[in-house]
Amino acid sequence: KTPVPSDIEIAQSQTPKDIDLLAREINLQSEEVDLYGKKKAKVSLKVLDRLQNQQNGKYVVVTGITPTPLGEGKSTTTIGLAQALGAQLKTNCFACVRQPSQGPTFGIKGGAAGGGYSQVIPMEEFNLHLTGDIHAITAANNLLAAAIEARMFHESTQKDEALYNRLVPEKKGKREFCPIQISRLEKLGITTRDPNSLTEDEIKQFVRLDIDVDTITWQRVMDTNDRFLRRITIGQGPLERGHTRETQFDITVASEIMAILALTTSLKDMRSRLGKMVVASSTAGVPVTADDLGISGALTVLMKDAIRPNLMQTLEGTPVFVHAGPFANIAHGNSSIIADKIALKLVGEDGIVVTEAGFGADIGMEKFFNIKCRYSGLIPNAVVLVATVRALKMHGGGPTVTAGVPLPREYIEENLDLVEKGCSNLNKQIENANKFGVPVVVAVNGFATDTKSELELVQKISKANGAFDAVICNLWAEGGQGATDLAQAVKHASQQSSDFKFLYDVKLPVEEKIEIIAKEIYGADGIELSPEAKAQIDRYKKQGFNDLPICMAKTHLSLSHKPELKGAPTGFVLPIREARASIGAGFIYPLIGTMSTMPGLPTRPCFYDIDIDPVTEEIVGL
Ligand code: ADP
Repeated sequence: KTPVPSDIEIAQSQTPKDIDLLAREINLQSEEVDLYGKKKAKVSLKVLDRLQNQQNGKYVVVTGITPTPLGEGKSTTTIGLAQALGAQLKTNCFACVRQPSQGPTFGIKGGAAGGGYSQVIPMEEFNLHLTGDIHAITAANNLLAAAIEARMFHESTQKDEALYNRLVPEKKGKREFCPIQISRLEKLGITTRDPNSLTEDEIKQFVRLDIDVDTITWQRVMDTNDRFLRRITIGQGPLERGHTRETQFDITVASEIMAILALTTSLKDMRSRLGKMVVASSTAGVPVTADDLGISGALTVLMKDAIRPNLMQTLEGTPVFVHAGPFANIAHGNSSIIADKIALKLVGEDGIVVTEAGFGADIGMEKFFNIKCRYSGLIPNAVVLVATVRALKMHGGGPTVTAGVPLPREYIEENLDLVEKGCSNLNKQIENANKFGVPVVVAVNGFATDTKSELELVQKISKANGAFDAVICNLWAEGGQGATDLAQAVKHASQQSSDFKFLYDVKLPVEEKIEIIAKEIYGADGIELSPEAKAQIDRYKKQGFNDLPICMAKTHLSLSHKPELKGAPTGFVLPIREARASIGAGFIYPLIGTMSTMPGLPTRPCFYDIDIDPVTEEIVGL
């Protein structure tokens, strides 16, 4: 249709099939599927046991060039490609995407179910609570926050003996350690398991976490853009006076628990990762973990449903997993390993799983390979690199592009010169993907204002600069039909033998790993560590956390650390301001510049347009 209707109009004009029908079509067994209403379901991890001897399908990651602030269509391409493969070419196919946060949905960016005729439906469900995974993360995160505060409070008001008597109470004349306390005894090297025979010193070690309040890194979270929670004071009640302190809220998707959900491989692994999360240091400098607080079992219980991927469908009725949505700067910005693993089994040897990595390829793809694939052990077969004429024009020197403001003339009229100059960014991202030994297909995402010569120029330059193939697609305006060439090219590319390799060995010193990413991927001359970052890295090394992959927290708007530097900048040194660690998730994250972990609302947030018809219950404005 021209003009193309709004996303929500398109989404609502298509009636999704019942999800149990889709589940049967993809050979899920009824006991593996938990229906959440008629249009969405959770899928059990038991599928992985049943299909353990089934060969995986091909594994394709969708990424993009450095985007404008408007986004260049990675989600739209992921869904459109899956529609083309599944509904048009009749290939077994799954799309795996992230679940959006309600922060952006009601804030600036709006929903994220793809766009135009390439969307996940029902888009209302997708963009709202879905099956409550983000709420579960909020609950788990905040239970842990409460536990830290309460533990410090109790330790400060009670003597060792009294604490011990409360932590290991007598029940029916008997005293016993619970399993999580036995783990703590093991960690402390205390050999006795009889609660009545610990020495005074052992009791002290056992009961006192002795948290240094200035080292607490665990924050409270909620899934709302509420900038007034960026800095708060807690402990103002009359009974908590003396424990008043400043802290902050982050948005839920910035929680380490979200990163864990995305990186975990089983319930057992999730419990172990949740237990390893470091929340603070003791006054002696020892890391204090969720296990030390005795809470990892409870956190796992709160997350037991969230670990199962959510089954939905595209506009063309092909299967989609929606699962996890970690931040792409302080976390790795990829959907879950579990969803990808289940999907790879379900599509079978001849099928294809299309998964999406957030931000540009310098961030999302690099983390997909070096973090996600390292933890999953999965070998990727192809990269789809989304490029748009508008972003290339910006990289070529076009005027600033701002969300909510009409595009300047350069972006609406043909300008081959700007496109050609801007391809420096595209070429660098192709080169980066090739460093991992995986073939790259450039998907030129066509917009109505692009001219044929502009689109073909991008195609030509891509092929001349190391892309396995480059294809013009029209999946926003035409759905799967507009991406059959892309689907063929991706099939072909993914059949090549993969020569996949990581960019660095995790055993290298932290600084060296950071330097490799900065030089090889961003094009920097080197890195400069602030004294603070140096001290933090030294501490992590001493604590035994050196051998973790690196998760760079850098702007996505430039290959460098400066958003205003477009194209493929060179001659810069990357400044590392701080280094933090998510030990449970399993990465060190250097901060390059300041990263907001709690967005704010604009003057006119998306919520102005969102409403529901009280009679038909139809939602508008998402
Ligand atoms: P990303 O995942 O890269 O952030 P999205 O797929 O969310 O990008 O697309 C960003 C926005 O641009 C969405 O509103 C989407 O509907 C729109 N969009 C994507 N491709 C096109 C296109 N070819 N023509 C018009 N709008 C598009």
